[in-house]
Amino acid sequence: MTAQQVITEQQLRSQMVTLALSMFERGYATGAAGNLSLKLPDGNYLTTPTGSSFGRLVAEELSVVNIDGEHISGNKPSKEVAFHLALYRNKPDCNAIVHLHSTYLTALSCLEGLDVNNAIKAFTPYFVMRIGELPVIPYLRPGDPKIVEELVKRVANHRAFLLANHGSVITGTDFIDAVDNAEELEETAKLIFLLENKAVRYLSHDEITDLKGRGK
Ligand SMILES: [Zn+2]
Repeated sequence: MTAQQVITEQQLRSQMVTLALSMFERGYATGAAGNLSLKLPDGNYLTTPTGSSFGRLVAEELSVVNIDGEHISGNKPSKEVAFHLALYRNKPDCNAIVHLHSTYLTALSCLEGLDVNNAIKAFTPYFVMRIGELPVIPYLRPGDPKIVEELVKRVANHRAFLLANHGSVITGTDFIDAVDNAEELEETAKLIFLLENKAVRYLSHDEITDLKGRGK
C-alpha cells in the first residue's frame, strides 16, 4: 500500500476483529473484559459493543459513535467508550485505543507502592522506545467519570496508563500501533514477575535518554 492510499472502513473493521481474536487467543482478554476503538476515515469512531468478547467480534456489529459519544450505528457501545473519546479529544496523534484486563498488567496494577509517575522502571529498550513511562491512575470504580479526568491530565505526554486494580489503557497512532504497544507492555509486565527477587540490571539514565531520541 502506498502512503496515499487511505485504509477503508471495511479494512479497519476486519483489522479490529482479527487482532481482537489474536489477543483473545493469547490470553490478553477473557470473557467480555476490555474494549477497543479506532478512528474511522469519516471522523467517527469504531468501537467494541458492550458485553462483547474479543474472541467473537463480528465486523458488521461493531459500534460506531461520534466524538460526542452519540451512537451512530451497530450494536450499543461499551460504557467505557467515554474515556476513549476524552483521550481522542486531548491527544491529536492518537487514532486507536486498546483497554485490557490482561493478566500481567492487571497483576502489576494491583501491587502496593508503585511509582505513580512510572510503574515500570526501564530494563528493556523496546519498553522505552514504544511506551516511555507508564503512569498510574488511582483506583476508581469502572465507569466513574473521574477516570476520564485523571487520564486527560496525563495524556499529552504519555502513550499508555495503568488503572490501579483494574488494567491498562494503551494508545497508538493507528490500530496496529496500539496493539503492538499493548503487546510490548503486557510482555514487559510478564518479565517483571519472571525477574521477581532477581538482581535486575536496569537501564541507566543515559541509556534511557539515548533511546528516547530514537523513536521506535
Ligand atoms: Zn476495564
